[in-house]
Amino acid sequence: MRREASRELKFLTDSMHGKLTRWLRMLGYDTIYYPRADDEIIHKASEERRIVLTSDTELYRRILSKGGQSILLPLSGTEDQLSHIAIHLKNEYGISYDEFLAVKFRLCSLCNGQLQPSSNNRWKCGSCGQEYWVGGHWRNISRTLERVKRLVVGLSKE
Ligand SMILES: [Zn+2]
Repeated sequence: MRREASRELKFLTDSMHGKLTRWLRMLGYDTIYYPRADDEIIHKASEERRIVLTSDTELYRRILSKGGQSILLPLSGTEDQLSHIAIHLKNEYGISYDEFLAVKFRLCSLCNGQLQPSSNNRWKCGSCGQEYWVGGHWRNISRTLERVKRLVVGLSKE
């Protein structure tokens, strides 16, 4: 049951987390960037059953008190934030760190649209037309994800 639910996980990020939004889409998670007032965020997240990612303690507490889901993130950078999310998803949904921290070529990191395979190891966004492929930038992406995995291992030992 938990495993099935994990595939449906969707996120909403607040105004402080634009960069994180693009990373989550790269990891295959439907994520909307929603830089609005707290009340609008709470409404949208409950309507679409999204987990709210925020660094705002008050917003976080309000969501939990209304029975919604939220993960409180540090403001110390994307790698730290991804490691917090990884630990949460493992504890709550049994998603392994390797499964979470792998690029999926499922969603466009720019617009959250669905990617379609086009030609050899290329994918194209059905909404905005952006193309994706495994290129020179790949090394940086892999390195970042490796660093996050090391952070997660460190944090989960605490
Ligand atoms: Zn797109």
